[in-house]
This record gives sequence, C-alpha cells and structure tokens, in this order.
Amino acid sequence: MMRQVTLNTGETVPALGLGTWQMGTGGPDEAGQIRAIQTGVDLGMKLIDTAEMYGDGRSESLVGKAIAGRRKEVFLVTKVIPSNASRLGAISACEASLKRLGTDMIDLYLLHWRGRFPLAETVEAFEELKTSGKIRHYGVSNFDAGHIKQLGALSPKPVCAANQVQYNLADRGIEFDLLPDCQRQEIVIMAYCPLGQGGLVNHPALAPLARKHGVTSAAIALAFLILRPGVIAIPKSAAASRVTENAKAAGVTLDEADLAAIDAAFPPPKRKMPLAMT
Ligand code: NDP
Repeated sequence: MMRQVTLNTGETVPALGLGTWQMGTGGPDEAGQIRAIQTGVDLGMKLIDTAEMYGDGRSESLVGKAIAGRRKEVFLVTKVIPSNASRLGAISACEASLKRLGTDMIDLYLLHWRGRFPLAETVEAFEELKTSGKIRHYGVSNFDAGHIKQLGALSPKPVCAANQVQYNLADRGIEFDLLPDCQRQEIVIMAYCPLGQGGLVNHPALAPLARKHGVTSAAIALAFLILRPGVIAIPKSAAASRVTENAKAAGVTLDEADLAAIDAAFPPPKRKMPLAMT
C-alpha cells in the first residue's frame, strides 16, 4: 500500500511521486522514459511532477504521452515560471501546459520560485484558474520561511496546498524552521532532489541500512523523507528498473537505531539555514 499525505482540503495523495526534470529529451530514450513513468504509476507513484520550464515544455509533452488514456489515475503537478506569473501571463501559461499535458485540468499548479510579479497577482490568477476548473489546487516552490510568511499575510489568506523545496539527507536545512512551519500551516512539503541528484545512491553510510531492509540505498534515502508527516518525495529516474527500486521506499519502516545511524552520518540542522536551491 502506498503511503498517503493529506492536503489541506482533506484529499489524499501518494507520498512518493515521480520527478521528470531532464526527461522528454526525445530520441531513442523516449520509449524507455515513458515506460519508466508508467511503471511508477503502476507501482502506486501516482503523483507526477513536471514544469513548463523543463526542456521548454518537452517534459510536459512526455508526461502527456505517458498518461494518455489514464489521466484519471494520476495527480498531476506542474509549475509556472516566475516570468509568466502575472495575472494574465499565468492564465496563458497554464493553458499552454494543459495542451502539452493533453488534459483539461492540472491537479496542483505551482509558482516555480518567487519572482518579480507581486504574489497577490499570481494568487489572483491561480484563484481564477481554480474557478474556471483548469487547476484544482495551487502552491509554491522554492519558498523559504520568509516567503511563506509573505504569502500568509495576503488577504484573503491564499489556500496554498504545497511548497516544493530541495530536501534530502545531505540537505536537511528545512527541518529547522520551514518544515515545521509548513506542517503547522498544513502546507505539504514536496521534497525535490530527494536523492541529491543521484549523489546519495552510493553513499557508504546507507549501505548497511539498505542491506538490513533488503532495498537499495536510494530507497532508504527516500524512506527517511516520507516518514515525516506532510512530506512527499519526487525522485526522478528515466529507467523503469530504478523506478521499481525507488517505489520500495514506501514499504520501508526505519526504526530508532536506523534513524540514529542516519543522524550520525547526515546531521540535522542546529541553526537556521538558507534554503538550498537547484
Ligand atoms: P533526484 O534527487 O531525483 O535524482 C535523480 C538522479 O538520480 C538521476 O540522475 C537518476 O538517474 C538517479 N537515480 C534515480 N533513482 C536511482 C536509483 N534507484 N539508483 C541509482 N540512481 C538513481 O534529482 P532531481 O533533480 O531529478 O529531482 C527530482 C525531481 O524534483 C525533478 O525531476 C523535478 O521534477 C523536481 N525538481 C524541482 C525543482 C524545483 O525548483 N521545484 C528543482 C529540481 C528538481 P536515472 O534517471 O538514470 O535513473
């Protein structure tokens, strides 16, 4: 059974999803990449993350192909680039994303990072998109604790469903303030680069835990993240075999000794850290 995370609307979504950055490059890899996404969905990783920025729309188009005929099975997340996040710009950007994704509705639409347009304007566009049924929820990405405060200060207070930020064992900075802040406000944290862009998959500190639980080190790194309430991890793999390994993270329960070993190798933050961004 896939672990679930509850959004502030009461809806549940899978704690383990699929990243798609650097996918959709075309060529002979395309069929394999589509198979990787479909394998993930079959295994319960029914949340797919993409962005209009990824490959200038090519990642969204790939996702569109992968979910053709099974749109209803997945929770689809995409992002508007800040330079398009004006009141009118966000509406056209969303419509272009819908076309590439081959759907008429996005489940969660995120502002990719804090840009030059006033937040109130972007939120107004998001609300309009919600009213017209083009998106179901909206949220943000790469927002630090200060940005989340700014968002919460708008009136009326926006119903921000999620904040997608960099979070992995080698980058635990958000545990100091952003993670608890978001948990308190029922804003789901979507952990991007959950495998440290592949840097954690051969980490020697994870090997004994991987052996103990009969999974890969990658699955241990992911299990650690989704253990926390309100955290979703979105690992990317272009290979069905590695997606299959990653999906096993949902079945791993780390005990006190495992967590202590992880803390020793990857210490939690002792003070406020600037938000890491990729
Ligand atoms: P990840 O931490 O998910 O790592 C991806 C890398 O790890 C790839 O090189 C992949 O290679 C490799 N990998 C995946 N699984 C395994 C495995 N089991 N064993 C060995 N290697 C593995 O990095 P990403 O940067 O892709 O982050 C995940 C997703 O987060 C992105 O795809 C994107 O959707 C989102 N993101 C959002 C950002 C934002 O600003 N909002 C910024 C960055 C990412 P291979 O494909 O060959 O398996």
